[in-house]
Amino acid sequence: MIDTHVHLYDQAYDKDRDRVVARAKEAGVTRCILPAIERSTYKAMEACLKSYPNWTFKAMGVHPGSIGSNYKEELDFARTHVNKAVAIGEVGLDFYRSREFQKEQIVALEEQIQWAKELDLPLIIHSRSAFPELLQTFKKCSHPNMRGILHAWSGGVEVFREANRYGHFYMGIGGVLTFRNARLAEVVKETQLNQIVLETDAPWLSPEPFRGKRNESAYLVYIADRLAQVKGTNKEYVVAVTTQNALSLFFTKAYE
Ligand SMILES: [Zn+2]
Repeated sequence: MIDTHVHLYDQAYDKDRDRVVARAKEAGVTRCILPAIERSTYKAMEACLKSYPNWTFKAMGVHPGSIGSNYKEELDFARTHVNKAVAIGEVGLDFYRSREFQKEQIVALEEQIQWAKELDLPLIIHSRSAFPELLQTFKKCSHPNMRGILHAWSGGVEVFREANRYGHFYMGIGGVLTFRNARLAEVVKETQLNQIVLETDAPWLSPEPFRGKRNESAYLVYIADRLAQVKGTNKEYVVAVTTQNALSLFFTKAYE
């Protein structure tokens, strides 16, 4: 399995990171993608990438929650530290708490989509309470090789399909799928497995039976289990298809 979204460098793991990694490997996690957030967390991310080479892989970008009045400095920093990245991320739009920096978020997303185009890299997209603006931005910036993950997908199947008119996007599925009465299960039922990748978003969004506790990549197993149940198939098949999806998205160009 590949955890396509884990913040393993978060301080939540400072006391036991080696054990967290050991448990993930034991559970069958073969690679992890670490998405960047902002300058202040980059040092920890670099250290983590160094500690677990060829198991952790870097995504570089500025999280929409870190786009504020100094967003140009954040963008400059990310652009100059994009070397060795297998993706641009996580980037996107988040108007859940505030629209104060809506304009800046959109400008930053457009610029980072441009990086992905120039560097021929996939995008890891974070979108919350922002689907109309996200689709508008995709429409404006679409290019033939636009591709990536719509991470922690919370929209309907129609929005997902519309996003796929502008690029090739996988649906990032994590712990939310294991929650009772998750509307997400209905969306997943209508989405083909070859459009889905697994992710934990750890240390956040723990799947059942760990909901509310610290999440970790080893719990990917619970997400794969639930996904198999929703799709009416077995876990081995889910793991095989979603791993292949992640491999072809992140590792065909730069590392194979
Ligand atoms: Zn994230």
